[in-house]
Amino acid sequence: MAITVIYIARNKNTLLNDEWKYMALQIVYGGIWWLIIWPIYRFSPINTVYILIGFIIYMWLIRLVAKWIRNSFNNYNNLSEKVNYDELTGIRNRANFDEVSNEVFKVYSKDTDIPLTVAMFDIDHFKLFNDNYGHLAGDKVLHHVAGEFERQLFKHTTRGQIFRYGGEEFVIIFRGLTNDEVVKIIKEIRLQLINDPLEYNGDELNIRISFGVSQLQASDRNFDDLFKRVDHYLYASKESGRNRITVENKTFTFG
Ligand code: GH3
Ligand code: MG
Ligand code: MG
Repeated sequence: MAITVIYIARNKNTLLNDEWKYMALQIVYGGIWWLIIWPIYRFSPINTVYILIGFIIYMWLIRLVAKWIRNSFNNYNNLSEKVNYDELTGIRNRANFDEVSNEVFKVYSKDTDIPLTVAMFDIDHFKLFNDNYGHLAGDKVLHHVAGEFERQLFKHTTRGQIFRYGGEEFVIIFRGLTNDEVVKIIKEIRLQLINDPLEYNGDELNIRISFGVSQLQASDRNFDDLFKRVDHYLYASKESGRNRITVENKTFTFG
């Protein structure tokens, strides 16, 4: 009996999907119960058959309900994945960013002693990758940059969350980190990207990125106040010649 129960517990998924295994196991399970009860109460053979049929129908219904619940959960998870994650890069998408940024603002605006910093970046002359190597290469660049940032953010700090804002633009929300701490992390990730370049058709792709960084201030009335500054600083990095980082209106090269 114990062996059957352990077997069922360990093979839940295969049993739910395999009709015959499920049926055979029900007979084994029912048979074991029959053997346990038999010495105490002797069923007539016809009663035994009725009980067995009843048991099989009962277990079949349970299996149908279990399968339906499991499929509903899977569908929900797939849907939630589609709604919140970007298909090409696998990172969080714009819709998720809108939701998270509002939540984050509610929490961090209460107490600006705990810093919140946002960085936005845009790949420089990204269109040239599309034009020179084709859209597939452009897609690879996006996938590579997003993946590398996500991996390195995870390595450096679990407090940096990256989103694809649109096209070749990304946003990172750094909870509990100041501008200076964020700049340090960005510099390290950028260096990693440059030292380990993406290859396409035998060519090393020279990916460069411009950044805008700003920290939440007590005077910010909503997330947009902060985000407008970040966007403006990214624009300043582009305007100053690209491959730069602008932090609170000061633009630096990566030197
Ligand atoms: P800048 O340095 O000023 O940012 O120049 P840029 O070429 O990076 O920017 P621009 O806005 O001129 O071009 C962005 C291009 O990105 C245009 C668009 O076709 C392309 N793009 C947007 N989304 C995708 C995508 O998912 N895949 C690919 N391959 N290209 C994309
Ligand atoms: Mg660009
Ligand atoms: Mg752009």
